[in-house]
Amino acid sequence: MEQITKDKDNLIIKIPLKQEVYNPYTDEVEGEIDNIIGVIEGDQVGFAYQIDMSYKDKDPQIGTTFYVDYMENGEFIKLCEKLGLGVMEYPVCATCKEVIYGSFTLDDEGEPMCDKCEMEERDKELTEKTYEEIK
Ligand SMILES: [Zn+2]
Repeated sequence: MEQITKDKDNLIIKIPLKQEVYNPYTDEVEGEIDNIIGVIEGDQVGFAYQIDMSYKDKDPQIGTTFYVDYMENGEFIKLCEKLGLGVMEYPVCATCKEVIYGSFTLDDEGEPMCDKCEMEERDKELTEKTYEEIK
C-alpha cells in the first residue's frame, strides 16, 4: 500500500489519499472515502488513518496516528485545508487535561470529563456521603 523510498535528503512515504469503500456483504466496491484525517490530540497534532465503517452504516472510525507534530492548532488546521483533509479534535478532560479517546461525560460546568476522573469524583462524593452518615 504505502510506497517508501528516499531521495538524497528525505525519506519519502506515499500514502494514498483515498481508500475504496468495500461492502463485505455484496463483495463490491461502492465508492471511496478519505484515507487520512488530521487529528488534534491535546498539544500534539498528526495524521491518522480512517477506517471505513459504511458497510455498518456508520461514520468512519479513526485509526492509528501515524505522524505526530507539535505545530500550533490553527497552523495545522490551515495545513489540512490546503491538503484537502478533514480534521478531528479529540476532547480533553477539563479535570486532568488528558486527551479522551473513548466515551466521556460532562462535568458540572459542561466540560468533558474522562472516565477516570468521573470515577474519582464519584468515590469522593460517596466518601463524603458516608462521612456525613457516620457523624
Ligand atoms: Zn480526567
